[in-house]
Amino acid sequence: MSKGLLIVVSAPSGCGKGTILGEILKDDKFYYSVSATTRSPREGEQNGVNYHFITREDFEERIKNNAMLEYAEYCGNYYGTPKKEIEEMREMGKNVLLEIEVQGAMKVREICPDAVFVFILPPSVNELERRLRKRGTETDEVIAERVSQAKGELAFAEKYDYVVVNNALEDAICDFRAVIKAEELKVSNAKEIIDEVINNA
Ligand code: 5GP
Repeated sequence: MSKGLLIVVSAPSGCGKGTILGEILKDDKFYYSVSATTRSPREGEQNGVNYHFITREDFEERIKNNAMLEYAEYCGNYYGTPKKEIEEMREMGKNVLLEIEVQGAMKVREICPDAVFVFILPPSVNELERRLRKRGTETDEVIAERVSQAKGELAFAEKYDYVVVNNALEDAICDFRAVIKAEELKVSNAKEIIDEVINNA
């Protein structure tokens, strides 16, 4: 069995990243790494499922104990990837998905050179704002902050390996699956498949 991929996905909020990843995660070959955050849960979010919702004090303690693969401050809150389980899951052949913002992604680029980086783009910034408003979970002030944040983040897209444009959801999911398939078929990731064919010759 080949080692699973480490797939880092970034997108400004409102790009539909959650919906795309929700579809991908229906396949149990994928494992979603649940991040820790100091922000408050939104309606419907569950502790341990969407995030580990923890205090700033607890978060800083985890940083000190080197328990985070990476972390970043985003819109006034800490967000971080717990180290635990990532390697374990990959060794079990699972493709591990990290859904993180750009600063954290660039740190993972340094720490894990074999990770795959995917940026999900909205069709336009206007459409992104429209989707944020439709979601109705944030105040006007927070939406304005997120849109301005998004503009800055979009500039990072070119530092990723792949882009997926979420114009039509079905197409975006299909493109995302195509990226994963291409990565799985890379010679560097398929060594065991090649060996098996050679040994059974
Ligand atoms: P939200 O508050 O909308 O759930 O997330 C805000 C941003 O934080 C998103 O861009 C999301 O991808 C990012 N994020 C979530 N978890 C992590 C994490 O563990 N590390 C980093 N660096 N960013 C994260």
